[in-house]
Amino acid sequence: MNSEFEIGPISVESGSMVCTEFPVIKKPDGHFLSIPMMIAHGVEDGPVVLAMGGCHGDEIEGPRAIITIAREIDPNRLKGTFLGIPFVNVPGLVQRASVQVCSRRENPIDFKDISPVFPGSPEGTITERVSDIICNTLLDVADYCLDLHSGGGMGGVISLAGFCDEPGDYGKKSFEMAWVFPIEVLWQVPGADCPLRDIAHKKNVPFFNGEAFDGEVEPYIVGLRNLLKHLSMVEGTMEGIPSKRRCVGPEVRISCRSAGLVIPHRKLGESVSRGDLLLTITDIYGNEVERIESPINGIVTGIRRTKESLVWPGDTVAFVAELIKEGRYFPKRGQVV
Ligand SMILES: [Zn+2]
Repeated sequence: MNSEFEIGPISVESGSMVCTEFPVIKKPDGHFLSIPMMIAHGVEDGPVVLAMGGCHGDEIEGPRAIITIAREIDPNRLKGTFLGIPFVNVPGLVQRASVQVCSRRENPIDFKDISPVFPGSPEGTITERVSDIICNTLLDVADYCLDLHSGGGMGGVISLAGFCDEPGDYGKKSFEMAWVFPIEVLWQVPGADCPLRDIAHKKNVPFFNGEAFDGEVEPYIVGLRNLLKHLSMVEGTMEGIPSKRRCVGPEVRISCRSAGLVIPHRKLGESVSRGDLLLTITDIYGNEVERIESPINGIVTGIRRTKESLVWPGDTVAFVAELIKEGRYFPKRGQVV
């Protein structure tokens, strides 16, 4: 029989699933703001998979997938532990749900976006404390970590299965995590490319970084299920692995210099060459004020949708990533065949 799973003030008996809260900070009214957790702790020993969603309060695809998987796991047939955090940024989610205005990526209490804040601080603001708990408590017990994002209110993005481009066993395990997701485009990024990924790499926790197309929950659900099968935590065969894939490198963020209305000329996932017209910006009378071309040969991984077409100077309007390889991929080699 597996021993209890303990994390902070929470303990979970083997063969059980609990939905609970990890307290973070006391509010002025005396109540705690907490991180919600769905923990399925198996009857047999196995890896600890940490899956996080909702780091940005306007991204619902990751949370939906984590909730679905946590609820379908039978802890009496599970090896290891699934530690699901559907909403890292609960205040952002609440703000999003209660105020029908612009998106709320950041935490509306301290106005911070968690992505650049990692590793945070145990003495800091709410976002800094949540970051600290993730980096210095959760990653210390995790054997694998997944961070599930999507376009949210920022605009349309293509679904991406991201892995750390690092040598040795670490890179191989990270690649395998991406490979099991039924997402056509693999996203090869250096460990040091973002703070959380860098910390996970330094703590030797293989890391998956996902982006989901607007409303596409199913690839995350199937990918999480496949990962549990791949790690022999549950029984079953993997489903939906694409036979051919494209692999892109880090994204180039493209901003506009002018305010106005964005007119996109390319679709998500489309191949572009350096100098191809991506977008034009017009004034409110339709006069063109700026033409934005692709700075590289690659694939359009993000582009403004019509409903987010009003922009200010300096706003992000598109992402393009270089195509590294195209073909059949196998996890043992991580190569095109
Ligand atoms: Zn995000």
